[in-house]
Amino acid sequence: MSKMMKFESGFSQEEALAEASRCLQCKKPLCRQGCPVNNAIPQFIRALKEGEYAQGLEAIYRHSYLPAVCGRVCPQEKQCEASCILARKGKAIRIGKLEQFIADNATEVGFPKVAATMGAIAVIGSGPAGLAAAVQLAQLGYAVTIFEGEAEPGGVLLHGIPEYRLPKDVVRRDIKKIENLGVEFRLNTLVGVDLFLDDLLAQGYQAVFIGTGAGLPKTLELPGEYLEGVISALYVLQTINLYNSGQLPEQELPVEKGEHVVVIGAGNVAMDAARTASRLGAEVTVLARRGLNDMAARDIERDEAIADGVKIRTYAAPLAILGEENVTGIKCVNTMVSPEGKAIIKEEESFVLPADKVIFAIGQRPYARIVTTSQGFEINKQGLLICNEHGMTTREGVFAAGDVVHGPATVVKAMGEGRRIAIEMHAYLLRKRLQSAK
Ligand code: FAD
Repeated sequence: MSKMMKFESGFSQEEALAEASRCLQCKKPLCRQGCPVNNAIPQFIRALKEGEYAQGLEAIYRHSYLPAVCGRVCPQEKQCEASCILARKGKAIRIGKLEQFIADNATEVGFPKVAATMGAIAVIGSGPAGLAAAVQLAQLGYAVTIFEGEAEPGGVLLHGIPEYRLPKDVVRRDIKKIENLGVEFRLNTLVGVDLFLDDLLAQGYQAVFIGTGAGLPKTLELPGEYLEGVISALYVLQTINLYNSGQLPEQELPVEKGEHVVVIGAGNVAMDAARTASRLGAEVTVLARRGLNDMAARDIERDEAIADGVKIRTYAAPLAILGEENVTGIKCVNTMVSPEGKAIIKEEESFVLPADKVIFAIGQRPYARIVTTSQGFEINKQGLLICNEHGMTTREGVFAAGDVVHGPATVVKAMGEGRRIAIEMHAYLLRKRLQSAK
C-alpha cells in the first residue's frame, strides 16, 4: 500500500453498470429502511442500469439534497449497505458509490424552481441541516435567506471534511444548485455577533431555522492545555481547507513537516486531523483509550490512517501536556477496559511521547452565540437546543435541526432533519395563517 492512500475513487461507467446489474430490485427493499432518509435506492439503481442518469438523480432528490456528498461520506457500511439483502453473503451492493456516480454524471439536473409566494424565512447556518431546510422551504414557495458566519457556505462539508475525502468542487457544485433555486446567501454574518435573532424577526421573517451545528471543540482541562502548540482538530481541518482553496498562505498552516504530532481522540474527526497532519509531513501518533477494534472511527478511516503512516497508540490516555511556553511532549498512562465496558487507568506508571503539537479531537458542542444574545431559548447540559417533536425551540416560531439539536452525528442525519423540520415549519405557518383568518 502506498504511504498516502487515497479514499476509494468513484466507479467508472463500466464498473457502475456492472454493480447496478447485481441489484436484486427487492420488492421490500431493506436498503431503504437502512437509509436515514429512506432514499429511493432501488429506483436510482434501476435508472442507472438503464442509462437514465437524470431520472436517477430526480428520484434521489425526492429524499436527499446532497447525493454527491452523501455518496462519498455516509457510513454506508452501517446503513443502506448493511441492510442490503446481499450483505448476508458479504456482497452488499456498493450503494454509496452508485449514488456518487449518478450525482457526478447528471450534474445538469437541478431542483425544480417554485415561485416564492409564501413569505420569507431566515435560515441560520449553511451546513447540511441549513442547506436542506433551505431547499425544502424554497420548494414550498418561501423566499429563503441563509445567514452564514463564514465567507463561504457549506459548514463542515467545506471547512471540516478533508479534500481527499470530499472534493470541495463537489460541495460547491451542490451549493450552486441551491443558489439557482433562488436561495439567497448572506455570508460573513454571524448571528449573535453581527446581527441578532430579534433583528431577523423584526425584519419580517415569518420564522427562523437554526442549523448552526456543533463547532466548539471540547477539551479535557489537562495541565498544559493552554501551551503554544495545543490546537483543536477543527482548527487544523479548517485551516488546511482554507489553504487548499487559496485563502490562506502556507506559513499559516498549523503543522509543519517533521514535527511530532499527538492526536487525542479516536473518532472520525481524530482520523481526519491525524491524516491531514501526516499529509503535511508530520510524524503522527493517535492516542486511543481502547483497542483498535473499539475505536469510534469508521474502520475504513482507521485503516486508511494507518496506511497513511499514522501510528495508533492503543490503551493510552493523556495525563498532562508538557512544556514551558511551547508543547514539548505529552505525559500518558496505560488504560484498560473495565468489566462494565469503561476505559479506565490500568496502572499509574506513565510514559512520555515527544510532541511539538497536540491536537484535541474529543468531540464538539454548539457555540452559545444565539442563545446568550436572545431570550427564551432552553439548552441542555451539552449546550444542545431543546426542541419539541416538531423541531420548534422553546422560542415561538424559531425552529432548529442538525448537530445543534442532536449533537455531532452525520451529514445524512443533519440533512434529513433539516428537511423534516422545514416541512414542520410550513405546517406551523399554515396553521398560524388559518388561525389569524378566523
Ligand atoms: P455544520 O455542518 O456544522 O454547519 C453549521 C454552519 O453554521 C457552519 O457553516 C457555521 O459556520 C454556521 N454557523 C454557526 N454559528 C453561526 C451563527 N451564529 N451565525 C451564522 N452562521 C453560523 N459526517 C458524515 O456523515 N460523514 C463523514 O465522513 C463526516 N466527517 C466529518 C469530519 C469532520 C472533521 C467533522 C467535524 C464532522 C464530520 N461529519 C461527518 C459530521 C457531519 O459533518 C456533521 O454532522 C454535519 O455537518 C452537521 O451539519 P449541520 O448543518 O448541523 O452543522
